[in-house]
Amino acid sequence: MTERLYELNAYTKEFKAQVLDCILVDSAYKIVLDKTAFFPEGGGQAADIGTLGGVKVTDVQIEDKTIYHYTKAPIEIGSEVEGILDFERRFNFMQNHTGEHIVSGIAHKLFGVNNVGFHLGEELVTIDFDKELTREQLNEIEIIANQKVWQNLPVKAYYPSNEELKNTLYRSKKEIDGEIRLVDIKDTDICACCAPHVNRTGEIGVIKLLDTERMRGGIRIVLKCGMFALADYQSKYDNISQIAALLSAKQENAFDSVKKLDEKCTLANQKINELKKKNAELAIATVTSDQICVFVDDCDIKELQTIADKLYKKFGDVRAVFSGIDPNYSFAICGDSINLDEIFKDFKSRFAVRGGGRNGMVQGTVEASKENINLFFKF
Ligand SMILES: [Zn+2]
Repeated sequence: MTERLYELNAYTKEFKAQVLDCILVDSAYKIVLDKTAFFPEGGGQAADIGTLGGVKVTDVQIEDKTIYHYTKAPIEIGSEVEGILDFERRFNFMQNHTGEHIVSGIAHKLFGVNNVGFHLGEELVTIDFDKELTREQLNEIEIIANQKVWQNLPVKAYYPSNEELKNTLYRSKKEIDGEIRLVDIKDTDICACCAPHVNRTGEIGVIKLLDTERMRGGIRIVLKCGMFALADYQSKYDNISQIAALLSAKQENAFDSVKKLDEKCTLANQKINELKKKNAELAIATVTSDQICVFVDDCDIKELQTIADKLYKKFGDVRAVFSGIDPNYSFAICGDSINLDEIFKDFKSRFAVRGGGRNGMVQGTVEASKENINLFFKF
């Protein structure tokens, strides 16, 4: 069994250990040490990464109480290696994990909700509660959680005796096999957990509850603490300041300005659609019954279909409408099914056509000159 240095001191960044085993599995090596500061994935928290004797550790897993460090290169059994953790990453995890305990503890005390799922990844931290919470309730939890940070309360992780455990009220995410390790945040929360946490709540920096999503009668909350929260604030500040500058608005008025802009866009789009309709009507008005093929300006395929349909209803036979810049055109051709099928087959064999259709309407794009298209439809 590997000695767990991360439990003795969550701040161990470097350590020396003896290599007990090195197993080749597929294209990876599984390294077993006599002791390690690398936290193996567990309790919702991702595994630590770093190096062992200069070799990259890409993953750490615990299987049957043995901790395996996954590397791309072998390390000699019996040798002594130096382990170095990516501690900046780990510390961010410790901030987020301790923040999660505080939030879950307060949510449980105030609103009786239980944490039924926790995920702590590279960027995203989520907590799943078994009951829904309103934004007002979340705001209340968030304020109290941050007050706990400002109070800089001690965080203690320990293995209680059976007697202590019997007399302690603690939260537990699931039934745990074997020895129970408790994480006690003074006056805030006691929870069974295997992961490393910060020593005092002040180190968390800030706790921010972000997006929520309803799920299975409960709620999933995105949480950001410490460095994650600061990075989120920085990126949001950059975003909002650019939006405000673009709209010549104050940051606090950015939403109102965007809303106004959106209303303007909706009106402009309505105008464009009206003009397109008029354009189509004008295009149709000047067409005579002997014109099988017409060219119109600035129409998309949908508009071409409308014009072709209107011309067909007016004149019958087959009606083809094209729009584009020579020699690239969009088209719609409307006509009696049998007649149309034959013409379209011929059309496809003559030019580079992409498209098709049914029920008396074909549409698509074609690469051909206006001259050649006009010649084709002079039958
Ligand atoms: Zn924990």
